[in-house]
Amino acid sequence: MQARPSSPEAGSSLFSSPAGRKVWAVLIHLVIVLAAWFACQGGIVIDSVKLPFTTRFVSLGWWSVPLTMVWLWAVTRALAATNRLPGLTLGLMGLICATLFLVMKMQPQPAAAWAAAAAGALAAVGAFGFLVTLRGHILLPDIVSTALGFAVAVVTVGGALKNTAFLILLLPVLVLGAPIVDATYAMMQGGGLTITRRRERLHEVLLRRGLSPLQVTLLYLVMDACLCVLALLLVRIIVWHFAIKIVIITAFGVVGFVFFLSLIKLLMRAERTEEAPERVQLMDVTITPMTMQETVARIEEFIRSRQPHIVVTSDASAIMKAQEDEELHRIINTADLVTPDGIGVIWGARLLDLPIYERVPGVDLVAELCRVAAQRGYRVFLLGAAPGVAARAAINLQARYPGLTVVGTHHGYFSADEEPRLVEMIRAAQPDILFVAFGIPKQEKWIRRHIEALAVPVCIGVGGSFDVYSGRLKRAPLWVQRIGLEWLYRALIEPKRFIRLLILPKFMWMTLRHWLTRKITRGDIVRQD
Ligand code: UDP
Repeated sequence: MQARPSSPEAGSSLFSSPAGRKVWAVLIHLVIVLAAWFACQGGIVIDSVKLPFTTRFVSLGWWSVPLTMVWLWAVTRALAATNRLPGLTLGLMGLICATLFLVMKMQPQPAAAWAAAAAGALAAVGAFGFLVTLRGHILLPDIVSTALGFAVAVVTVGGALKNTAFLILLLPVLVLGAPIVDATYAMMQGGGLTITRRRERLHEVLLRRGLSPLQVTLLYLVMDACLCVLALLLVRIIVWHFAIKIVIITAFGVVGFVFFLSLIKLLMRAERTEEAPERVQLMDVTITPMTMQETVARIEEFIRSRQPHIVVTSDASAIMKAQEDEELHRIINTADLVTPDGIGVIWGARLLDLPIYERVPGVDLVAELCRVAAQRGYRVFLLGAAPGVAARAAINLQARYPGLTVVGTHHGYFSADEEPRLVEMIRAAQPDILFVAFGIPKQEKWIRRHIEALAVPVCIGVGGSFDVYSGRLKRAPLWVQRIGLEWLYRALIEPKRFIRLLILPKFMWMTLRHWLTRKITRGDIVRQD
């Protein structure tokens, strides 16, 4: 079920009109201010603060009450504002209060007993409520989320603020990180504080860009959990030199920002626009941004044209190899179609805002083309892999797609002398599609060398696909493929592949560098007629 933003009039038809909603919003603000004033009168007040990184206490004097009220109001609103997705407010409350509880237990001076008890109780309510609201897709009425926000705000003042010297300003900001990020994004978005236009919050952008409500909720909770860990770490090292703390906070901030941005970008779907480009470039390597369906349709056009075409399935390692191998670089960039194979390419493309919509891995393309070939009568030839593997794969594919015409198979371990005979054999078989499985870059270079002599409309390099279809290698379970960890699975079942993974950090670093320096932007997209 898709979560809907809660409406302020929840529970009352009196406030269902636009004007009524405004009145309701103002009423809620007034109630918070009033409650904050009463709390101050009851002794929940920040009377002095010890500034971060100093030993100096600053007495707030008559500022105490207004500042405490502002603080209580801000924390209440920050948490209440997360009440847009089932489970989010209660999950965040659970994390924040558990952290505050631990901080109160860890800090040198004991916190007020009531504050520790309240933090513990709110943490438990948050954890339990999170599970119930998440499972039931329940949004809290606004008055409830506001009350919970206020309770958390009171606990921050009563428990942590008075006693935790260094963290006086920092800790609540850290533990409230996720709500603050969401609200800040809304303020920054659109280039300023526009009052007339409703600002889109970060979670709304994420939902619009294809993340599920559950994914957004979990993302926020993980983000907040990381900030809570940092807050706890800072309490542990409270006596350390402030410079070390600054370094830790900065490092955490930078790594965390890049990590979450990458994660968000990876989860976001590219938006398809009218003028979607025919080709994009990722680190100077061409990719054709097409879905699997579009790729198959384009390949069918190639077959109908009867002219020879080269299709490359390009993953992160192919892109990295192309950086150092000029011939491969040229082959990919002049290929007729280059599919985005592998989660690395998708990640890189999303980080750089390139409109690549989905993975089109070689191994899936083989299956899809064989399915279509069986229906339309296209002839296929399987070339590559160890002796017997291509033949076994052909039998299995024919069993899976009855009617599939395999006009020939041959292994991929032949000498240069055998090549002319092999090329002639393929040419004579007259396939419509030639799958070549020698691994990148050998297959691409071989295809390029023989494309004219082969006279096959479509030649595709498909790496280790025959090993999979012959049954020699097991493919990762579907859920592993879905979460983008197939590469890890393959490395685990074939440990010699681990060495290839060394290329991935380099790929990620290069992509990040491009992104950071904004070398590749949408402006770099290459358009072709
Ligand atoms: N291979 C081949 N001839 C060679 C080298 C490799 O037929 O000279 C085959 C090898 O048996 C394997 C495939 O090419 O089936 C390469 O698979 P890999 O998974 O390494 O390729 P990737 O998909 O990673 O490019």
